Amino acid sequence: MICFADYHTHTRYSHGKGSVRDNVRAAAGRGLEAVAISDHGPNHLFGFGIKNLAVLSRIRAELAAACAEFPQVKGLVSIEANIISTAGDLDLPPEKAHLVDMVQAGIHASVRLASAGDFSRMYGWHYLGKLWEPWSRKARIYNTDAVVNAVYKNRIHVLTHPGHRFNIDTRAVARACRDRGTAMEINCSHDHTTVEYLHIAAAEGVRFVIGSDAHTPERVGDFAKGIMLARAAGLGPEQIINARAL
Ligand SMILES: [Zn+2]
Ligand SMILES: [Zn+2]
Repeated sequence: MICFADYHTHTRYSHGKGSVRDNVRAAAGRGLEAVAISDHGPNHLFGFGIKNLAVLSRIRAELAAACAEFPQVKGLVSIEANIISTAGDLDLPPEKAHLVDMVQAGIHASVRLASAGDFSRMYGWHYLGKLWEPWSRKARIYNTDAVVNAVYKNRIHVLTHPGHRFNIDTRAVARACRDRGTAMEINCSHDHTTVEYLHIAAAEGVRFVIGSDAHTPERVGDFAKGIMLARAAGLGPEQIINARAL
């Protein structure tokens, strides 16, 4: 099994180390057919996100120039939007979705959430849950609500690193993703993904995507961990949107 596209790469527009061109050049070097620039959404605090949504137009222009230089690579403008409420709102509102070719979304820490209520539901219970198990169950319910509602409320192509840091009900999320044609990511940069998670999600008929989550150009197209996990779970390339049989 090989992966022919890396849809999850960061640049200096969020907290990556390379430029848009660096990531395209790295993708060309790795023989990829496509690469997406998916910097963090604007509600990410402390400089972790893009400054504002206007940055997406700059990324589009730089991507077009880079792909003219490396025409073997198709460039996609994407975003790793933040889920900012338990009602499922993103920091890329639906009326701005046309600014990207592909919407990806996930739950992250250090994000300006939609309201104080969302802050207590999504962060309050999450951090309290580290202290006492019943609170962590409550956090899981809110996190699952946020993700499932986001999947139904928005057109999300990829749900990034489901279950990373923020506990979710994998089965409920997988059902929503299957219904909406949203791929669940097998992330190659974090360690939370288990074979059990993949089995539970796959049983619901969802499709996956393997993403490097590269924050440096050197890691663009580094799918080793994801491919190893997919193999261990017995997934075939037909279940992974950016993979094909060798
Ligand atoms: Zn992320
Ligand atoms: Zn990321």
